[in-house]
Amino acid sequence: MSQYVSRLGGRRVRGHGTPRRLRRGGGVRRVAMLSVHTSPLHQPGTGDAGGMNVYIVELAKRLAETGIEVEIFTRATTGGLPPRVELAPGVIVRHVDAGPYEGLAKEDLPAQLCAFTHGVMQAEASQRPGHYDLVHSHYWLSGHVGWLAAQRWGVPLVHAMHTMAKVKNAALAEGDTPEPAARVIGETQIVEAADRLIANTDDEAAELVRHYDAPRSKVAVVHPGVNLDRFRPADGRAAARARLGLPQHAVIPLFAGRIQPLKAPDILLRAVALLLADDPKLRERLVVPVVGGPSGSGLAKPEGLQKLAARLGIADVVRFRPPVDQDTLADWYRAASVLVMPSYNESFGLVAIEAQACATPVVAAAVGGLPVAVRDGHSGVLVPGHDPADYARALRRFVDEPGLGERLGAGAHAHAQGFGWGSVAAATAEVYAAAVRRRGLVTA
Ligand code: UDP
Repeated sequence: MSQYVSRLGGRRVRGHGTPRRLRRGGGVRRVAMLSVHTSPLHQPGTGDAGGMNVYIVELAKRLAETGIEVEIFTRATTGGLPPRVELAPGVIVRHVDAGPYEGLAKEDLPAQLCAFTHGVMQAEASQRPGHYDLVHSHYWLSGHVGWLAAQRWGVPLVHAMHTMAKVKNAALAEGDTPEPAARVIGETQIVEAADRLIANTDDEAAELVRHYDAPRSKVAVVHPGVNLDRFRPADGRAAARARLGLPQHAVIPLFAGRIQPLKAPDILLRAVALLLADDPKLRERLVVPVVGGPSGSGLAKPEGLQKLAARLGIADVVRFRPPVDQDTLADWYRAASVLVMPSYNESFGLVAIEAQACATPVVAAAVGGLPVAVRDGHSGVLVPGHDPADYARALRRFVDEPGLGERLGAGAHAHAQGFGWGSVAAATAEVYAAAVRRRGLVTA
């Protein structure tokens, strides 16, 4: 891909954007956080809103608590939004006008990046010089805006990919649409431009090196987190089932998240069909909730999963629910016997760690970040590959082995305790400091 990288890459352009003298200790006081394609104010679990939204909100709040203010720039997607919303003390969301409010898919956004950048530059220009100490961009679209903004303001750029085109394309579900070459080009440019890249796991760091030629020294690994105040066992499974109107003695494998081929909820349904073919009596006590809404390439067939359930003859056991707020989602996790994530790829998989924090074990595909999020045999079961029969066998164990759910549930709860957002924010602040130091060396 090197032929696509700008010949200016790596050079520091002097002028208005000359790197500023850094504060002693490289202390970062205010960060411009960029989230072009999805707003931290949107409900996650459908469309373009998912784990990245949760990540940005939780990280920003925790950074603010430690004294680093965060201003999050996102594209306005409805009319009449206030230009500036306070999300929490020290965390502001700035709505940027870039293109029509509605009707633009994520795929259309590369054409709006100039307009978005214009909005970001204007917002900064109305502040005192040196308003932002650092730019932290999320996903490649924001990375492109951050590339220019950081250079113009003379501050470091820290970037998190969240997902990468080359990695996604290498593990596509059958018939799913590959990510375009333009995204690969964009990601390659950002890898070169960023001072630091934040990866969710060692695996993701290795992918940045392997697929995008990132120097390993540029990549910091920071595991994402879970809000341990919200996601906890609370008053337990029985109470959660009662609140959700679910039968007390049911076996409940839960799917939660954006409904799209990459997440493979269809594999769960096929596994359930196999379980029931094998043991028809199980039908009386099996409930399969699917919580979330269509997203990405899943939007092309929004009813696809419902139709599949009907075709498989399991529509009576599957309960489709629209996305819910995270407090309600915590109840779904508590109520479930097990969370199932048969995804083809996950850079981490926040729902896995959230369910475990509620003491619910996870059956997950052994892909991407899931082997970090789930401790095989301790907090859940990792399944190699995507054969529904393997998932059916894993689920069968929760029916047959008394005590398995409880044992793994206890392990899950313990495992999740190591993933609080406080440590994510602390590790991120260290990455910021390292990025600032790197600039300090460059400008010295
Ligand atoms: N989520 C939610 N309500 C829902 C379904 C999901 O708030 O009905 C949230 C969930 O709590 C998690 C995020 O959406 O934090 C999904 O993140 P994950 O990393 O699992 O997947 P992604 O969307 O990033 O692919």
